[in-house]
Amino acid sequence: MARASVSIVKVTDIYESLQESLKLSDGLAGLNINDRILIKPNIVSWDFDLPFPPYGVVTTSVVIKALVRILAEHGFRDLTIGEGALPMLNPQWDAVYEALGYMKLQERYGVKLVDFNQGEFIPTDYGDGFRLEIAKQALEADKIINVPVLKTHNQAKVSLGIKNLKGCLNKKSKQSCHGVGDEELSLTFPRIIEKLPVALTIIDGLYTLEKGPGPTGKAFRKDLLIASRDPFACDLVGAEILGYPAKEVAYLTNYAKRHGYSMELADYELRGESVADHQEFVTYDWEWSEEDTGPAGFEKRGITGLAIRKYDSSLCTGCSVQYNPMLILLSSAFKGKPFPNVEVVSGKQQIAATGFDNSVLFGKCACHLNKNNVNVKKAIPLWGCPPDLKKFVEVLAKEGIECDYNEYVRFRHYLFDRYKENEGFKLADWSVE
Ligand code: SF4
Repeated sequence: MARASVSIVKVTDIYESLQESLKLSDGLAGLNINDRILIKPNIVSWDFDLPFPPYGVVTTSVVIKALVRILAEHGFRDLTIGEGALPMLNPQWDAVYEALGYMKLQERYGVKLVDFNQGEFIPTDYGDGFRLEIAKQALEADKIINVPVLKTHNQAKVSLGIKNLKGCLNKKSKQSCHGVGDEELSLTFPRIIEKLPVALTIIDGLYTLEKGPGPTGKAFRKDLLIASRDPFACDLVGAEILGYPAKEVAYLTNYAKRHGYSMELADYELRGESVADHQEFVTYDWEWSEEDTGPAGFEKRGITGLAIRKYDSSLCTGCSVQYNPMLILLSSAFKGKPFPNVEVVSGKQQIAATGFDNSVLFGKCACHLNKNNVNVKKAIPLWGCPPDLKKFVEVLAKEGIECDYNEYVRFRHYLFDRYKENEGFKLADWSVE
């Protein structure tokens, strides 16, 4: 069997560099001119209310635009861009596509734009009892071009092409990927691709992100494109560049075992730049106290009377997006005095411990799980799926814990303002000229 090839290209001019990347990886070779082609970017979340830095979080529009232009120049006419972002974005998906400049691609190239969340999902049986509900538009595409971002992920270590396909699932199936047990996430989401016709993966590495996948992580300018017709090979190279050999990434290990892949970089044909020249370790996770009482920063600030149990892989994206803001809010409530003996649990497997006066149950799953927990002296339930932050402030205020929502607003401004245009961060990369 021929070795799968992967191209690594340093970006100078996006259009030229993507041409080079596709040439080196034979990226268009698997596509037929009459194919219905679905382009799947990564738009995990967006926000119109507060500043949202998309660096390393959302696929750049300049890469999508260059891809659409190249496909159109090669005669491909049936192009669709589709994504199923966090359902909390509904019904604003058209506003997001507008903000990303996709409407211009629609006008210029006739590209169809779909939001999977507005369409039908088909229950799909994998033949061994495993089932997922997948967007009909993704299943019906002849070929999928997957365009993830080169980023880390605080649960899966890296989030690249195979993970990006989670956006093709409905809310229920997305949540089911984050099952109970440490291994569950890395066993489930790599299976999505088995039912999808992914013909090409292009990892958008214009920026990369530590402590991803959301905007609370820190982005770096990277200027790389990694492409392959083989989704596993592409992810393996992306992970190596982020500093994670495949054998250290559970989902890649599981995928390799299931599909008979080698996890050795040497077994793949690399074209273009070398991995070694671009490999830089990017931290994937947040530092926590040894006693599992909260982020290391809380300990440094001398916050006591509060034990926030570290999120685990059962916490799905909805709650994950709210988790860091929840920490900021709790931190804002600290005025030098200990918290009133509070524990915070979240996700589908954290059982509130004995010995606390107050148990904050963050999200519907933690509420259900701890409903009859005899350890709980006083429950402070946040039933949302995911919980709403303003509600969080309101509920905690009733218990005498005064969080300051404005502190969260300031934090969002800080996240946005720390990227300066003159350091290579350009919001124009998320627009189409
Ligand atoms: S409450 Fe949170 S962890 Fe539970 S299903 Fe909803 S988003 Fe997922």
